[in-house]
Amino acid sequence: MNATIPHTCNVTIATEVDVHHRTALITGGSRGIGAAVAVALAQGGATLVGIHYARDSTAAEAVVERVNEAGASGVLIRADLAEGAAGAAHLATRWRDEVRRHDARGTDVLVSNAGINGAQSLSELDEGTVARVVNVNLVAPLMLVHHLSDHINDHGRVIGISSGFARIAAPTHVAYTASKAGLEAAFRAIAAELAERDITVNTVRPGVIDTDINADWINEPGARDAVAAAAALRRVGQPDDVADIVAFLASHSSRWMTGQSLDATGGTQL
Ligand code: NAP
Repeated sequence: MNATIPHTCNVTIATEVDVHHRTALITGGSRGIGAAVAVALAQGGATLVGIHYARDSTAAEAVVERVNEAGASGVLIRADLAEGAAGAAHLATRWRDEVRRHDARGTDVLVSNAGINGAQSLSELDEGTVARVVNVNLVAPLMLVHHLSDHINDHGRVIGISSGFARIAAPTHVAYTASKAGLEAAFRAIAAELAERDITVNTVRPGVIDTDINADWINEPGARDAVAAAAALRRVGQPDDVADIVAFLASHSSRWMTGQSLDATGGTQL
């Protein structure tokens, strides 16, 4: 739909970046936004791209191929982040092993993208779903930065994928909203400490993006039109729309921003 603009942006970013930003780990890199981010960072000059996934190894392998075609080395790491801190610890250990195995040094870019939506209103909330959503969307990303903090190189980048629902009230997604608002606040809180090493920490808030996370409703009659009508830019977002913003945050061009949340909703409910 909008291939020309994002790809132009990628080329622009590639020329200036990422001499510094060579190694990148993307959680939930097997599908949707994470897959687009993995490819964008490979196109932008990353040389080693860790593609983390939980279940869909076929999709993850396809992303590795695209990353390799872009000139980087893609490596697969499986970890279930519904295990929260334990899943994050396992992922951090495996990523360190891969970086060592490739004779690379540290982590230049960490993108915490893996997420689940667990759509439930207040009356529908159940303890198991709340725990799972908070584990994947908040506990695991925070503990992953904790476990990798000494591995993140000076001048590095930490980027979290939040949600427009951290700004727009979403009665249908109560636990999800809490997890994303928590992620933004936690990342803002750690930004000062990591700034001592010139590492920036920011989050991105996508609006409705055309990925599997919305597969159960986005193709219902009228759903896409309703999403488009709510966005000032009048369409459903695509994974590349978010990936290009992440690529900017991963680049040298974003060096003077930290502790911020960037809205990537196409101006939804402005
Ligand atoms: P997606 O297409 O459903 O992909 C989700 C990714 O997260 C997959 O790579 C999946 O890996 C991974 N994942 C899911 N459960 C996991 C678990 N228990 N442990 C580890 N990894 C797990 O979703 P998406 O739309 O690209 O979403 C990416 C991020 O954007 C999420 O944080 C989401 O909340 C956020 N976001 C999305 C939208 C949207 O409309 N799409 C809007 C706002 C925010 P496997 O497939 O291998 O399990």
